Amino acid sequence: MAHLRGGARLEAASRVTDAVRRLAELFVSARRAVAFTGAGVSTESGIPDFRSPGGLWDRFDPSEFTYRNFIASPDGRRRYWDLGRVTYPVIRAARPNAAHGALAELHRLDRLDCCITQNIDDLHQRAGLPADRVIELHGNAARTRCLTCGRAYTRDEVHAWIEARGELPSCPACGGIVKPTTVLFGEAMPAPAMQEAERRSRAADLFVVLGSSLVVYPAAYMPAHAKHAGATLAIVNLEPTPLDAQADLVIRAKAGETMTAIIEHVRARLLDLADAAEGNEALGRQPVP
Ligand SMILES: [Zn+2]
Repeated sequence: MAHLRGGARLEAASRVTDAVRRLAELFVSARRAVAFTGAGVSTESGIPDFRSPGGLWDRFDPSEFTYRNFIASPDGRRRYWDLGRVTYPVIRAARPNAAHGALAELHRLDRLDCCITQNIDDLHQRAGLPADRVIELHGNAARTRCLTCGRAYTRDEVHAWIEARGELPSCPACGGIVKPTTVLFGEAMPAPAMQEAERRSRAADLFVVLGSSLVVYPAAYMPAHAKHAGATLAIVNLEPTPLDAQADLVIRAKAGETMTAIIEHVRARLLDLADAAEGNEALGRQPVP
């Protein structure tokens, strides 16, 4: 009986391994691979999913943190920054994980066009993926902007102002309201990022979802755009998603461990291909007998 259970486990593990190998091969052969990351990738770095019900919303009422409340009154902004002084240090202290590292390396190996992300934690950039290859659908918690003159300030600067003066942050240049670039409840999605994400999703020949349950719209339309335009769709997520039935490959596993296995396989395959190319070149240099 123990033997049978062991055998069943082995079989399940080899199915996962086969799927991982297939996904690695897809990365090797893709011309334009696009990754799409969600909260699951951030939680593997220890960042809680702030949007889902849980500890944080026992202390703060989510209905208060709307765009309207932030814009409408100093009191609304004060509540927002009080929340930020709890949440932002957690984000700031988090470190990129294996999934972030693997995506940055895939880009360096010319195997990844870009990463479209629902996350706001800046961890793709901190892992080494160039900022112009990270399309942030919900903004970035590490950056703020003056709503009047548009000047940008880091979140670290703004928090230092709050700590030093104990008052609401205002733009040093014009006195305007400073707001994090994250999309608040009730706020419109950033149009340039949405357009760029749609364009790149439609141009992809491989679209890989990592750690997203694909339930937050309109972000979750991206894999559907890619699939309709002819991309191969792969989904790596611990839980089922509404798009699993349309996907070409579904891996129910964590993003970090899956991407670690994938990047190892991709590195090895690219070395093989380089050796083969070198071998062919050496053959071509043989003197004609
Ligand atoms: Zn300003």
